[in-house]
Amino acid sequence: MCLPHSVPTTIPSTTFQVHTSLLFDPKEKVFAKNISIEVNPGTGEIVAVTKRPSESFNINDGDIDLTGKVVLPGLVDSHTHIFIHSYEERNGTQQMRDQSAVERIVRATNHARAALLAGYTTYRDLGTEALGNADANLRDCINRGLTPGPRLLVATDALASSGSYELRVENKLGGNGLGLSVPRACDVADGVDGVRAAVRRRVGDGADLIKVYADYRRKTMRFPPDVPGPGGQVLFPPKRRNPAVPLYSKEEMEAIVKEAQLAEIPVAAHAGETKAALWAAEAGVTTIEHIFEDSAGLEQALFHRMKEKKTIWVPTLATAEALPADMFQSCKLRVKKAYDYGVRLAAGGDTGTFNHGLNAREVEILIQCGVSVEDALEAATVAGWEACGGDLSGFRFGWFEKGNRADIIALETDPRSDEKALRKVSFVMKDGRVWKRDGFAVDMISVPQWPDDDGNTSEGWSDLGAGTPPKMYMSVPLPVFRGRNQSS
Ligand SMILES: [Zn+2]
Repeated sequence: MCLPHSVPTTIPSTTFQVHTSLLFDPKEKVFAKNISIEVNPGTGEIVAVTKRPSESFNINDGDIDLTGKVVLPGLVDSHTHIFIHSYEERNGTQQMRDQSAVERIVRATNHARAALLAGYTTYRDLGTEALGNADANLRDCINRGLTPGPRLLVATDALASSGSYELRVENKLGGNGLGLSVPRACDVADGVDGVRAAVRRRVGDGADLIKVYADYRRKTMRFPPDVPGPGGQVLFPPKRRNPAVPLYSKEEMEAIVKEAQLAEIPVAAHAGETKAALWAAEAGVTTIEHIFEDSAGLEQALFHRMKEKKTIWVPTLATAEALPADMFQSCKLRVKKAYDYGVRLAAGGDTGTFNHGLNAREVEILIQCGVSVEDALEAATVAGWEACGGDLSGFRFGWFEKGNRADIIALETDPRSDEKALRKVSFVMKDGRVWKRDGFAVDMISVPQWPDDDGNTSEGWSDLGAGTPPKMYMSVPLPVFRGRNQSS
């Protein structure tokens, strides 16, 4: 029997209540008491949000009691790379050039679980880094219920101009005649017509959004990276050995934005420097990523234009933490200045360059910069939704309201008094389905069920039980905060 349009019989259609005693409302930026959220697991939506007159409530079959915990909407990481793992383990070139596609996909599957268990129910994933549109395929696998993970909104290949964002080798002999054959790291596009075509290719490949390199350190072959051994070092390199310079003219940036607008998807622009960031803001991009340097002295002009154009800044401080200390410090000061000036911030760590599951580091650093706890949490929820394009994403998430996705997480401690509270996620629900309860993963493994004597199979997914943590819910250990990330 084939019922393609029916709701799977394994998903219950009756609603249940999630009772809370303390809940963060990112729209109002307040912690509210005694709220109950009604969830429909059949649609994965919030049905109602109710303020109870008192602490007490009746608990019915299927209801979830999160009292005593601090409840937040599922978190949004606005800058991730699901196919990348920590650069401390292996650098980006090695991952793109040397790892098999299978290894990268298996790792990504683990990354998705780690992120979900860390309370991140949405990922704005900004490029596969030499794996084509595999991010769209992984998104579809998660959406089809084949493997657990955050809701992925993906860029597929990033756009970059010729000779800009690619795997480079000094030896140009052999291969296809143009040098050693290496995977392509981006969708190369030049000129107004060329970039419009590239946006169309990305949309056709399944992208939810466009990622463009507005600038990059593309002059690396002027003074190639030092290698070990005699003769391996450039003896007298210039002070600025390989600064980030623009990849696209203003006309090309505008064409990218206009073409993305036709497809009704947002644009994220990578900019290491304020100059390219300013051009990107003027072109009307949705978000600007990074902004680590201000060689041109355009910071104030940039903030002014971003505020005017409502451009969201994703400062990726968690990856900047690996930069030299003085540079990291200047990044933090720039974020505080932008925050005070009124530039909209979204929390995205460039997660992947450090391990998935440690996503909350970005929010911790935002708070260290001087962003209030409430605004930092808003940057990791509502602003994340906006960075995904808001309603263009096709969903509402990041706050509690009727019709929104039922993405609900709970912390053991209060982030207003515990700076590491976001590391203590004990409950995770995404789309009305529970993935973590009492600090333990649940339901992570799909187990085929023998039919009962009547020939019925009840559940396609095993409920491994809230009280009895599964022994093998992850094939690799979950990442732990350590090293430089420990300091506050
Ligand atoms: Zn990135």
